[in-house]
Amino acid sequence: MAFPGLSDRLETVRAGIADACRQANRDPAETTLIVVTKFHPASLVAALAGLGVRDVGENRHQEAQQKAEELAQLGLNWHFVGQLQTKKARQAARYAHAIHSIDRERLVDALAEGDRVIDAFVQINLTDDPGRGGVAPADLEPLAERVLAAPALRLRGVMAVAPLEEEPARAFERLAGYSARVRALDPSASAISAGMTHDYREAIAHGATHLRIGSAITGNRPEPR
Ligand SMILES: *Cc1c(COP(=O)(O)O)cnc(C)c1O
Repeated sequence: MAFPGLSDRLETVRAGIADACRQANRDPAETTLIVVTKFHPASLVAALAGLGVRDVGENRHQEAQQKAEELAQLGLNWHFVGQLQTKKARQAARYAHAIHSIDRERLVDALAEGDRVIDAFVQINLTDDPGRGGVAPADLEPLAERVLAAPALRLRGVMAVAPLEEEPARAFERLAGYSARVRALDPSASAISAGMTHDYREAIAHGATHLRIGSAITGNRPEPR
């Protein structure tokens, strides 16, 4: 199946990342581009793999599981970036290379004894609304400690979504501070998962290592199925 413009959009984003890294005096090799393919068909993920994409992101367990199964032979790294129900956690850990949405201790406990080790990002809520995804900054250390103690999780760092109502640069500056707090617990947990279609340049300027970019590459998302 052909996806007109996909290759051009991917190249544009790759060039944008390289440019933002240059401006921030950073090596683009420090960044991982995760193409968020939620709601798009597996055939689009396969097309991306044909263009050299290795890391893809999904935010719904059932959809991610189906695509990961269908495309297993491609050997892609599947990044789970959405809210994860505790009762689905063990299943997600079977196909996920990384889970970016670790936001509560019960979820850590559900993943702690899995039989393969997966990368874990602690998601931080950058808003004052407790209803949004992510742990409150005040509760960051105990949650990170819990991940560090979980045999089947490797703590990579922090993750966040910039709030709609704030300048992304300011939000990512705070996130860099939370990242430093996690690094104080484990110097190797230095990754920062941040930056989407509209704010990845600001995220790169503030140290993001894992960029989760969807629509700038895939085009507009179809309605959720
Ligand atoms: C959908 C999604 C993205 C990608 O969003 P775009 O604006 O399409 O780049 C990144 N992170 C998370 C958590 C998402 O749910």
